Amino acid sequence: MNEYDSNRISDLMSSIDFTKVSEIESADCFIFNTCHIREKATQKVYSDIGKIKKILRGKNKKPIFVLAGCVAQAESSIVFEKSDFVDIVVGPQAYHTLPNLIKNYLEGQKKTFNTDLNVSEKFDSLEYYKNLSSKVSSFITIQEGCDKFCKFCVVPYTRGPEFSRHPDQIINEIKTLVNNGAREITLLGQNVSGYLHEKINLASLIKKISPIQDLKRIRFTTSHPNDFDEDLINIFRDEEKLMPQLHLPVQSGSNKILNLMNRKHTREFYLELIYKFKKVRKNMEFSSDFIVGYPGETEEDFKDTLDLVETVKFSNSFSFIYSQRPGTPAVDYQQIPKEIAKTRLEILQNKLFNLQMKFNESKINTKTKVLLENITKKGNQLFGRNEYMQAVFIEGTKSFPGTEAEVFINSCTKNNLFGTMINN
Ligand code: SAH
Ligand code: SF4
Repeated sequence: MNEYDSNRISDLMSSIDFTKVSEIESADCFIFNTCHIREKATQKVYSDIGKIKKILRGKNKKPIFVLAGCVAQAESSIVFEKSDFVDIVVGPQAYHTLPNLIKNYLEGQKKTFNTDLNVSEKFDSLEYYKNLSSKVSSFITIQEGCDKFCKFCVVPYTRGPEFSRHPDQIINEIKTLVNNGAREITLLGQNVSGYLHEKINLASLIKKISPIQDLKRIRFTTSHPNDFDEDLINIFRDEEKLMPQLHLPVQSGSNKILNLMNRKHTREFYLELIYKFKKVRKNMEFSSDFIVGYPGETEEDFKDTLDLVETVKFSNSFSFIYSQRPGTPAVDYQQIPKEIAKTRLEILQNKLFNLQMKFNESKINTKTKVLLENITKKGNQLFGRNEYMQAVFIEGTKSFPGTEAEVFINSCTKNNLFGTMINN
């Protein structure tokens, strides 16, 4: 979502005649769009500010520095105490005010912050700025915020309560993206599966989007297992443009831990859901997120996670050591020693990587349909993704970014497939 937000911030900045530059030294303004989900991401912000300061040392011009995103939201005016380099602090639901904040700053040189949580106003304002993204595979935010309050997570506090955009606004923006060359759209939300605008839920929204001409592929992320009703399962059977791959974070395979996390679902419920998807679309594949070392996690609980991984055979996944986040309930729980958490992460990641490798290997000597995205730096090599988001590199062929091609896969690594085009 930060990628989408950054693009929109860039659209806003061009309205006040700022353009992107590629050298740090030549920038008049810096905007850091930040993430607060884990401690590491947050720490990185201040060390990166230090790096910029170092590069600019000795120059007599001080650029405007904007701290945007969820760190800005969580720390608000405290940011000014932590770093005197920052001039403007703006939260993820207030960045539409950035052109004004910058204009005011240029007039008065006074440090300001805006951390209002007015999502509806943000999207209404953004309508006046054309989405200039021209990537074959583009993101669009359709939903923001979260009311689920998992006990480890900062999202309900940084992005605010759940909000779903008006379907007309979404469809107009997708049409703009498709006119600019987008052929694949990923619908985004912290709780995208909970999208609900008046009576339009995610399944009916997808039905509305699907007929858009020249749009070839639809995906959505991130979902919560509890939001899938029959409509949202059957849409995988009914809508061919919806890709047969779903990111469905489970976090843990232990019912005890799921309960301590306030996930409000069990491992049995999750497995049953996977079965339901496979029933309506046989070739569905799943990816997931995992947290290891959550307070209270025993060896037995961890084994339950490994066992669930083995049962579902995820095609790829993200896994993290639990990170204590300020303001969330789990921060005060008795913590698991870091060394134990690290060992568990290693074991889990090994298992996940092996599964990913096996999945990639299963594609060797088969053909796969690739949406071509761009020519790589090598020049005569094309890059694209297949239905399962696997990265595919195709040698020595003419380029047709934006079209779909049948590719014969010859080899793979853990992260990539390599092939040749069947019909040039
Ligand atoms: N809404 C999605 C996930 C949003 S956050 C869901 O419900 O699953 C993205 C991922 O970051 C989460 O799935 C989780 O695995 C990870 N994450 C969130 N908070 C974390 C924390 N405190 N420590 C470690 N990982 C965390
Ligand atoms: Fe965070 Fe997702 Fe839980 Fe919401 S549902 S609190 S975004 S992990």
